[in-house]
Amino acid sequence: MRAQLYEPNTGPNIQKEKEIVKEMIELYCRKNHHRDKLCKNCQDLKSYAVLRLSLCRYGEGKSACMYCHIHCFKTKYREEMRDVMSYSWPWMFLYHPFFSIKHVFNGQSS
Ligand SMILES: [Zn+2]
Repeated sequence: MRAQLYEPNTGPNIQKEKEIVKEMIELYCRKNHHRDKLCKNCQDLKSYAVLRLSLCRYGEGKSACMYCHIHCFKTKYREEMRDVMSYSWPWMFLYHPFFSIKHVFNGQSS
């Protein structure tokens, strides 16, 4: 049923992914919009992305968002997120040990 409510996800994989998404958006905004704090647009994108993760129907078993066939992001946000990802993800390799983020980019590890 479309109207069915899902329990918000609170598991460790989702939490980790939220952290990474937030960092990526913050990095992108800092480097591209030259703000000390997130601009309104990026703030909006961040809230949206975190919300989508909370409501992801795959929960802890989810694969990487970019490989998911559901595409739960609205087009506007999906396009913005694609820009953020393509800009920020090489930086994430500098800031994080590879193994901690490979889940996000390589899909399911198991
Ligand atoms: Zn921004």
